[in-house]
Amino acid sequence: MCGITGIYSHKPVASELYESVVHLQHRGTDAAGIMTYDERMHKHKGLGLARDVFTQDNISLLKGNIGISHNRYPTHGEFGHGEVQPVWTSVPYGIAIAHNGQITNYEELVEEVTKKGKTYLNTTSDTEVLLHVLAKELNKEGTPETSEEFFKVLCDAVSTIFTKVKGAYSVTGIVIGKGLFAFRDPRGIRPLVKGERDNNGKTDYIFASENTMFYSMGYEPTGNVLPGELIYVDNDGKLFSKRLVKEEFNPCIFEYVYFARPDAVLNDVGVYRSRLRMGQNLAYAWMKKYPHIKPDIVIPAPSTANTSALAFAHEIGVRYSEGLYKNPFVGRTFIMPGQEERKSSVKHKLVPQETEILGKEVMIVDDSIVRGNTSREIVRMLRDFGVKKVYFVSACPPVKHPCYYGVDMPTSEELIAGNKSVDDIKKILGVDILLYQEIDDLVEAVTRKGDHHIDTPCMACLDGHYVVNGRKVHDLVMD
Ligand code: SF4
Repeated sequence: MCGITGIYSHKPVASELYESVVHLQHRGTDAAGIMTYDERMHKHKGLGLARDVFTQDNISLLKGNIGISHNRYPTHGEFGHGEVQPVWTSVPYGIAIAHNGQITNYEELVEEVTKKGKTYLNTTSDTEVLLHVLAKELNKEGTPETSEEFFKVLCDAVSTIFTKVKGAYSVTGIVIGKGLFAFRDPRGIRPLVKGERDNNGKTDYIFASENTMFYSMGYEPTGNVLPGELIYVDNDGKLFSKRLVKEEFNPCIFEYVYFARPDAVLNDVGVYRSRLRMGQNLAYAWMKKYPHIKPDIVIPAPSTANTSALAFAHEIGVRYSEGLYKNPFVGRTFIMPGQEERKSSVKHKLVPQETEILGKEVMIVDDSIVRGNTSREIVRMLRDFGVKKVYFVSACPPVKHPCYYGVDMPTSEELIAGNKSVDDIKKILGVDILLYQEIDDLVEAVTRKGDHHIDTPCMACLDGHYVVNGRKVHDLVMD
């Protein structure tokens, strides 16, 4: 999972792109980068958190009113400085892109770019391949003079991408002397929202993975970049848009379960509200299945599950308790590389509050159980602190299948539900009762309200139904 932004403004854009990277930090903590342009490209990128990468000095060198930024969470390719986005090429024009998602026909495209296109690749990043496919298409046609002509060329190039490039990709990009563009794959798997701001009678535009920075930067949300849509803002601030293809709209359901910040509104659905509904639906399922079992307290596995746990506790009429204290200065375990780091980090980051749990029947609400390590550690810690019984509910159904669209769930073997029954998982976690959300209840929680146009959310990691650009991923060679 990554975070991307693109801004067209009537004032220098670097400090706002930095603010945007900070507001999307939860989507990737491995690296960050910003590229802007005036007469030429200006870039600064590096490994680590935004605050480690950027300083007042290096931000002041990023000149220009148009730019893009990226928060890196590694999904494809090796990870080193070369993979840090945005990536850029000087032919034609000078193009840079930031990409959120994952390309599923990477090998095929590498072949095309390197052998047929005679282009050397510097990295194993799928974003670099995407950049070269785009650059090659933009290089094909003559020399567009007007913005209208350039938009037409861009439409042709992105249409070719929609045909050739399979997988999930939301993209923001800049072309020197031409402006800013944004597009989203035909299924709209990864989010991309848009906003506008009045700037002394002129309009500024923003495109970003989430609208989390809009309020602080004074942008009004204006909806989403639609699946299969291309939007272009020329150097003078004139906006062009076209939906180049229309397929089924399948945005990632895991954004609502885990990734997105609760204050985000994605695909016209509020993440916070959807999490409340997840907790509600889960509570109804609990009361149906275990009408006579009522825990003493409900504790969220902090902090993504807080919202669902609040609704769950309310519905079953039990006190909500922050019985696990989370150290806010330790990163999210899910996005830390390497199992060992994950295992050892739980105790550093979570501390049970003895007064809340000693001798009690405790209900833990978690957003999801992916590898199961964190859940198992939490249960072990609660037992160490003298709980009487541990009930465990997950707002997300069993995660059984890998994600090929940009989320780090590489193999079924690494997923606790990959090839184990709920009863086996209950034993591994060491809980007295384990209850998962049903898929239909999760979908209902996400799609119940909001003036949205979601057809069916992508939930391939839950139901194994991989649909990308009209093809099932099982038909592709993936592993
Ligand atoms: Fe999201 Fe799962 Fe689909 Fe990946 S497979 S895009 S995590 S819903």
